[in-house]
Amino acid sequence: MLSREELKEIARLEGNGTYYVSLYLNVNPVTNPGGEHIIRLKNMLKDSAESLDKAVLKKVKDDLSAIEAHVLGNKREFKKGLSILSSSGNSFWREYNVSVPLRSELIVDKTPHIKPLLDILDNYKRYAALLLDKESARIFIVHLGEITEYGEVHTPDVPGRHKKGGWFALSQNHYARHVNYHVGLHLKDVVEKLDSFLKGEVVSRVIVGGSEAAVVMIKGLLPKTVSDRIIGFFQAGMFESNTDILKKVEPVLASFEKKSEQETVGELITRAEKNERAVLGIGNVLNAVQGGKVMKLLFVRDFGLQGYSCKSCGTVSTTRLKECPYCKGRMEDVNYLVDLVAQKAVEQGAVIEVVDEASELSKAGGIGAILRF
Ligand SMILES: [Zn+2]
Repeated sequence: MLSREELKEIARLEGNGTYYVSLYLNVNPVTNPGGEHIIRLKNMLKDSAESLDKAVLKKVKDDLSAIEAHVLGNKREFKKGLSILSSSGNSFWREYNVSVPLRSELIVDKTPHIKPLLDILDNYKRYAALLLDKESARIFIVHLGEITEYGEVHTPDVPGRHKKGGWFALSQNHYARHVNYHVGLHLKDVVEKLDSFLKGEVVSRVIVGGSEAAVVMIKGLLPKTVSDRIIGFFQAGMFESNTDILKKVEPVLASFEKKSEQETVGELITRAEKNERAVLGIGNVLNAVQGGKVMKLLFVRDFGLQGYSCKSCGTVSTTRLKECPYCKGRMEDVNYLVDLVAQKAVEQGAVIEVVDEASELSKAGGIGAILRF
């Protein structure tokens, strides 16, 4: 999973006479049903081989062939976007498979090009999940349907340190005070760790989980800086696997995202009605995409739409045209028009938001865009 910390480290890397190859490739199986991404990659590799300075090309030749071999030999189902950063001179190789579309580009430079990856962190919401009990805590980050464990906090309570006989020798009241004191210390540790985490990773929201008792216990004890960011709670055991935690966190996220989705859709519809840099419906969206105006593209999940696409320049249309109005190329049938539109929008720097079928957007044409100008 992408992390800001990791990208910061990568950003600090320098060539010292060596070079980095940064590949971004649209590999979405839906828009590349016939392996078009391989042709695209080959063209990009050919272009850089032709345009690069011979001395530079010599230094990145191994990287270019390793990238080509990797993409061609990858039998695994790709997500939507693939990024590879490679520098054989520095024995450096990173691969990121992301579930959002990327604009295809290949850049050779003295430093790795990570702007598109940073944009994903900025544009798609990231959440922290905190799982805790009285003496330990686990912090997770959830982004684009994936979960990663960030770290653990353990504040062990050692009965022997107290009076002879440990906890059992304490009176009922004394015992309760002791537990509260210890839980307080533990929460202080947890909050410190969470704070440093929230600062470093730009996570906007937090979900808290644990046993029912633990959740009740900490609800009132967390400082305002953390409690203000909490969007929900979940119940889970301390030792559950990441996959199981993700399953329990997802419904909380879904209901939160649904709310923020309704707000965005509301804004889109209001602005489109007032004609304030927003449009609704596939026809208007296609015009906006054609004009390079889209800032944010929204469509309902499973918005299936057939259409036509120009074989040579990629222009898309909902009506059958004899030839492309821009380049007179041949128009061919496509049954994944929305994916093509999303890919084109991403290429002009737009953010994509897929919304629930039940949203108001369904009644308003199923697709819309907020525009830059
Ligand atoms: Zn054309």
